[in-house]
Amino acid sequence: MTGTPHVLIIGGGLGGLCLAQGLRKAGLGFAVYERERGSARADRLQDHRIPIGPQGARALYACLPPDAWEEFAAHTQRGGRSAFVTEQLRELLVLPQPAPGRTPQRSHHAPSGHALRQVLLSGLDDHLVRGGREFVRYEHEDDGGITAHFADGSTAYGDLLAGADGADSRVRRQLLPHAVRADTRVLAVTGRLELTHAQADELPESLTTWSTSVLTPRSDAMFCTAGHAAAGERPPIQVAPRAWAATGAGAGTDAGMRAVVLAGVDAPGGPRPPRSRDHVRWTYVAKATAFPEDVERLDGKALRAVVAERIADWHPALVRLVAEADPDSVVPVRMLGMKPVEPWPPGPVTLLGDAIHGMPALGGTGATTALRDARLLSGLLARRRDPLQAIGAYESEMRAYGFDAVARSLRTTRSATSDSRLARTLFRGVLRTAAHSAWVRAAVFRDYGE
Ligand SMILES: Cc1cc2nc3c(=O)[nH]c(=O)nc-3n(C[C@H](O)[C@H](O)[C@H](O)COP(=O)(O)OP(=O)(O)OC[C@H]3O[C@@H](n4cnc5c(N)ncnc54)[C@H](O)[C@@H]3O)c2cc1C
Repeated sequence: MTGTPHVLIIGGGLGGLCLAQGLRKAGLGFAVYERERGSARADRLQDHRIPIGPQGARALYACLPPDAWEEFAAHTQRGGRSAFVTEQLRELLVLPQPAPGRTPQRSHHAPSGHALRQVLLSGLDDHLVRGGREFVRYEHEDDGGITAHFADGSTAYGDLLAGADGADSRVRRQLLPHAVRADTRVLAVTGRLELTHAQADELPESLTTWSTSVLTPRSDAMFCTAGHAAAGERPPIQVAPRAWAATGAGAGTDAGMRAVVLAGVDAPGGPRPPRSRDHVRWTYVAKATAFPEDVERLDGKALRAVVAERIADWHPALVRLVAEADPDSVVPVRMLGMKPVEPWPPGPVTLLGDAIHGMPALGGTGATTALRDARLLSGLLARRRDPLQAIGAYESEMRAYGFDAVARSLRTTRSATSDSRLARTLFRGVLRTAAHSAWVRAAVFRDYGE
């Protein structure tokens, strides 16, 4: 390898785009290859508010161009409160919003997935190429470089390859074929209710403005997050029109090309990005055995009916959230988490984000951890002369905090669906006590939001 390394980034999700930003800031060469072209079903989850803890905020601050960071920080500091309630909407505990840090980069933020994605596209538009590059495999070359092969027959050559291709990572399957995911045997069904004026007036204010965890005496739970506008925040960052411009390039072999291939990016004149309105996204979780066997094949309407039946005796407002949700927004999500992988020798291929430490969404730290990886990896590549040493240092630090985050998330998922009536009653008791004791609150919510 001569000069600075050229990095092939597989996957244009949160981690891949943040890595691209960090490499761009450091003046290193990169290209992002993304499979998706249009709006996939999962894209409808883009309205979901993603909690970004101080680690994620520091990563965005380090990787983004200063003006993009300023925009982000000005619009997305956490505005809502979090409540724990029973399935009859009896209040157990209301947590105030996390105290703002001394600076936005030490604070909590809660952008929508869409807003976060848009800020991560900032400034990359000069290099924009349309998506549709599905990575299939990589090959080591005699000169130490790496060739990536794509489903359309095209290839790309680079010095390093970073697999940021999400929880089902093909890069991981080739690099670490022995790595496996633990199945919690818990299933989530998530959906979205667009709030009409009538619904916003009729539903309890806590449901339409806060984050609410519904804890039941049975082995299930529900998590509701109000859309940003309802929480009194300013609208998310608008997409810079430039970011939607696409060049016609992107086919064939593009060795050494400094370009970015992005997911779901539509050319001017094509479909516009979703406009967020006030809404509530709910996520119902229960053991997989509580659902019909073919649950993952059901359409949104049938899935919604399954959840509605399971919560029929809950408070009417919660039943309504589900019954009136847009069926197209209702999707099942399996709660899987990577098992820790023993250290492996560093090489020119590495992994970041969900590709290496995918975790159930219930811990709420997948996004923050992916951003943290991007900051660490880009920072080390910028500082170390030997890229393989940089990758070794990155991997050993990332394995420690990444698998720790997975373990915490698995614990949260299991306890949300625990069969133990005693444990659930005790937890509700602890929350009631925490409502009156700052000391108990501090002990129970030490890592709140992080
Ligand atoms: C319903 C839901 C709710 C969530 N809620 C939260 C939350 O509240 N808090 C939180 O922290 N996290 C949450 N998460 C998880 C969070 O979204 C992920 O942890 C985070 O997006 C990980 O970023 P990533 O870049 O590693 O992967 P992703 O963002 O998944 O990006 C991977 C990218 O790689 C692309 N790709 C995949 N395969 C290929 C291929 N073969 N070739 C080319 N491209 C490919 C994909 O299209 C995708 O764009 C949630 C996830 C879901 C599904």
